[in-house]
Amino acid sequence: MSKIQSVRGMNDVLPAQSPTWQKLESALRTLMGQYGYEEIRMPIVEKTQLFARAVGEVTDIVEKEMYTFVDRDKESLSLRPEGTASCVRAGIEHGLLYNQEQRLWYMGPMFRHERPQKGRYRQFHQLGVETFGIPGPDVDAELILMTARLWRELGFADKVVLHINSLGSNEARNAYRAALVDYLRQHESVLDEDCKRRLETNPLRVLDSKNPDVQAVLNHAPRLLDCLDAESKAHFDGLCALLDANGVDYVVNPKLVRGLDYYNRTVFEWMTDALGAQGTICGGGRYDGLVEQLGGHATTACGFAMGLERLVLLMETLSGTESPRVADVFVVALGETAQVKAMQLSEQLRSDTALRVQLCHGGGNLKKQMKKADRSGALFAIILGDSELERGVAAIKSLRIDAEQIECPLSELASRLVQSMKTA
Ligand code: ATP
Ligand code: MG
Repeated sequence: MSKIQSVRGMNDVLPAQSPTWQKLESALRTLMGQYGYEEIRMPIVEKTQLFARAVGEVTDIVEKEMYTFVDRDKESLSLRPEGTASCVRAGIEHGLLYNQEQRLWYMGPMFRHERPQKGRYRQFHQLGVETFGIPGPDVDAELILMTARLWRELGFADKVVLHINSLGSNEARNAYRAALVDYLRQHESVLDEDCKRRLETNPLRVLDSKNPDVQAVLNHAPRLLDCLDAESKAHFDGLCALLDANGVDYVVNPKLVRGLDYYNRTVFEWMTDALGAQGTICGGGRYDGLVEQLGGHATTACGFAMGLERLVLLMETLSGTESPRVADVFVVALGETAQVKAMQLSEQLRSDTALRVQLCHGGGNLKKQMKKADRSGALFAIILGDSELERGVAAIKSLRIDAEQIECPLSELASRLVQSMKTA
């Protein structure tokens, strides 16, 4: 029979990789706690209309990347392609946003039907952070400081660069859009099909083109930053001053627009060239209009999302592929009576200590069992045979250093092992 394979672009995380994931996830939880942010968990499936309205009908995500299906109740549902829309929906639904400040985070899988390649998958994971009801640039700055702290914590602060821009108010952006369209129409011969389409549907997205000829033309295009309304300009200057005061380096990138429709004012991305083409590890910004647009009371908002697969890839470029130690102690038993005793003893050790205890299953001769002990990465093997059982002792053998095997009364085994682990 033919084998069934995983869905293209949807990956298993194998045991060899999960320590890196666990390290990342635990660093993220600690980070969120350090800033006083609270976790929220939303469903993975939402009504399709939510994403169409929030992310925007003419974005890549909604036009061609969503996993959309009609369920048995004939309702159009979608696997979430991002978390902000769900978070706002949940905030409105449960009354978390009206007249309140919220600092929220979530972590989990997202789904986009994109062309799979290194750093780009169809199921991927994000940590998302969303704040509500805080209008000033101080929260924009805090979100950036939070991410900068994480890069330091994970050891790749020197491999990432922060790009920031301001999209201004709706009015400023509309005025700019008209100026940009005028300019691009004068250079239409250089535009590729994708850009021509965007020129009609979502002209700001042309700024995001990867086409070098288009980029050359864009270098002389009008700049959104030059058309900002006074309040947005002050907000942006405030953010820059706070970043300066906290020693965060950044590049002001007037072409940074982001792929989702809901942003206004601040947008930012952290980029790296250590991962090839998929260089953005984190992106975010303000979306002051979204809560009202989704039916809530007008509430300011600012947030970001980071792609965990890309962070794991970066972490892997830093650390070797050392095989992880899954146990501290490996228990070997010779003979049926000893096997029963070994299981009881292992349970006792787990109750009495914090040691990770792996039991040899299936028996076998000493050589075979010691081979398994070695492969477990444990520091010590405990060996139980008939003669040890008769005398109420176990043998302890160090697996990593050349030391004589010793015998220890079963009653002292736990304390002896804990002591030995400290000095090992
Ligand atoms: P990109 O330009 O890389 O497609 P994006 O602008 O679509 O990113 P967002 O929607 O802002 O990204 O998502 C935030 C982060 O999630 C990205 O910076 C990236 O790290 C990660 N990300 C987005 N799409 C994918 C994907 N298909 N596979 C893996 N990670 C992704
Ligand atoms: Mg994308």
